[in-house]
Amino acid sequence: MQTLKRISNRLFYLPPYQETDRPILAAITGEEKTLLIDAGNSSSHAKLFLDQLEERNIKGDLLVLTHWHWDHVFGMREIQAPIIAHDETYNKIKELQELSWEDKELDQRVKEGIEIPFCADAIKKELGNERDIFLPDPDLTFETRMKVNLGGVTCLIEHVGGDHSHDSSIVYIQEEKALFLGDCLYANLYSKNWNYTIDNTLQLIQQIEKYDADIFFLSHHDRPLTKEDFSSFLQLMKSAAFLTKKHEGNEEAVVQEMSESKQRKLSEEEMETITFFVNGFSGN
Ligand SMILES: [Zn+2]
Repeated sequence: MQTLKRISNRLFYLPPYQETDRPILAAITGEEKTLLIDAGNSSSHAKLFLDQLEERNIKGDLLVLTHWHWDHVFGMREIQAPIIAHDETYNKIKELQELSWEDKELDQRVKEGIEIPFCADAIKKELGNERDIFLPDPDLTFETRMKVNLGGVTCLIEHVGGDHSHDSSIVYIQEEKALFLGDCLYANLYSKNWNYTIDNTLQLIQQIEKYDADIFFLSHHDRPLTKEDFSSFLQLMKSAAFLTKKHEGNEEAVVQEMSESKQRKLSEEEMETITFFVNGFSGN
């Protein structure tokens, strides 16, 4: 069981759980109101979060969704608060409302290439036989960005897009210098080969680098990243993008040059990042 972690008086989060692809869920508490970030991948995930907040006398007044993927929205029905979502997230949720999550339909969608095995497997594991998913319509939508004032704390929600999901939004908490990135920096998984494209990635990084933060939350990373960790994370993406372009998608050449410049063998994370860029370069 994941337990709620407290970063400060105003910042709490429930760590992710890889086994069934549960992302980070977070709560920002102001003097007046509390904003929750993401609804979780099931009713039980959402309840686990809400129960632990209740133990600290915290109740969510608003919920914001970082993007439409199942693991961030399936717990929506449990959260009794107005839901904020980007316009595209709203549209995708309207589409999800029409789908069945039973094995037969899920497997059919995997076969048709609409759903991916990675998600279908995690859905089956997380939900067991409880496949009756109710997704309410988001209440408040925005196009580019919006501010939520919680009383002494301001949350800036901004649409940033990216390869992982075109509707991705991030949440910046100015007073805490905290940035919640959702999944926006992860690869595009809804593709034959998981990938990053160079232009989208560099544009996304530029947008993210505008924010002055000390702590960074990536939804499936076990712990938040410090400024230093995050900067080397971005540095790796930038140099993998640069070298992929330079060597026109020749993976071996990219690995060799990066390895030579670091004067060591590359880590698994580095190798994987390069593979994703190479996949994106060749257009799969
Ligand atoms: Zn996602």
